[in-house]
Amino acid sequence: MTFELHVDTERWRRHLTATAARLPGLVPVIKGNGYGFGRERLAAESTALGADTVAVGVYAEVPEALATFGGDVMVLGPWRPFLDGSAVEQALADPRVVHTVGRVEDVTALARVRPGARVVVEGETSMARHGLDRHELAAAVAALDDLQVEGFAAHLPMTGSNLAEAESWAAALEASQLETSTFFVSHLGPSELDQLRERRPGLTVRPRVGTSLWLGDLGALDVRARVLDVHRVSRGERVGYRQRPMPRDGYLLVISGGTSHGVGLEAPRAGVGVVQRGKTFAKGSLEAAGLALSPFTVDGRQRWFAEPPHMHASQVLLPASAAAPAVGDAVSCAVRYTTATFDRVVLD
Ligand SMILES: *Cc1c(COP(=O)(O)O)cnc(C)c1O
Repeated sequence: MTFELHVDTERWRRHLTATAARLPGLVPVIKGNGYGFGRERLAAESTALGADTVAVGVYAEVPEALATFGGDVMVLGPWRPFLDGSAVEQALADPRVVHTVGRVEDVTALARVRPGARVVVEGETSMARHGLDRHELAAAVAALDDLQVEGFAAHLPMTGSNLAEAESWAAALEASQLETSTFFVSHLGPSELDQLRERRPGLTVRPRVGTSLWLGDLGALDVRARVLDVHRVSRGERVGYRQRPMPRDGYLLVISGGTSHGVGLEAPRAGVGVVQRGKTFAKGSLEAAGLALSPFTVDGRQRWFAEPPHMHASQVLLPASAAAPAVGDAVSCAVRYTTATFDRVVLD
């Protein structure tokens, strides 16, 4: 239990409550690694927030959501005729599940497989991910007779203002024969949501939010890795699986947190081309020695990996000029929460 997420629970929940209050109709998104907290935890928080619906990413996440949340469970990934397996079957059988359809042929196929299924019809936005284009809406409406339409959905890109695109889909929805006035939107900010509601008072606008809800106040979160070992090393000394020579004297720290925790999964920041390496070398950086900057901060600075992270721990180089930590000390680690797996999540 050494790579841990500590949550300042009071502060985190204050943010969750404030966000939910600012976003009426909020549908909390609970998918993947549960944004670092774990999906079960987020299901409990969604209940506490009074949400009537949560959204999961894929069918594999449905059974757990049905077991841990008492309301409706929306599947963000579109239903396709080729999907099979017990999770899909359970989802199709459960009246609390709301499916997403984004192709006319899928509407027809789903109505055949599960007449009366509850669906959200998705429009294809500039994301170009899934959904019907505007011209297919009418054909979809004709095929929707045997399904229960719960809303229309638009998944917008994350850059720039998406209000204009959301509005044009709102107009398309109102002009369509779709039997719903509920508009589920993804990635529209609070003020844009307000403007959309003002301009389209006939619609019930419901934001589907993950990141800015769960990870909207990073100050409430503290990732703690532990120093497991400290070794003195000299320049030229070879260490690690790869027996690389160390570029300078210092300390080799073995710190909890490795690939299984998601440490080191990010693409390297700097270029790896010959020219880039030459430039880097000219700057005298350790990058030129083939080292990569680690996410661990020790003695006030981010330190370099001595070699690529191991499964559960990392070997990190600390120059002799720095103050070496003691075995057992906690060090902070920058993580990408959506790819991090913690040994333990501690609600402080
Ligand atoms: C993942 C997802 C969301 C939530 O995204 P965040 O950036 O985490 O808020 C919303 N809508 C759809 C369709 C998604 O796939």
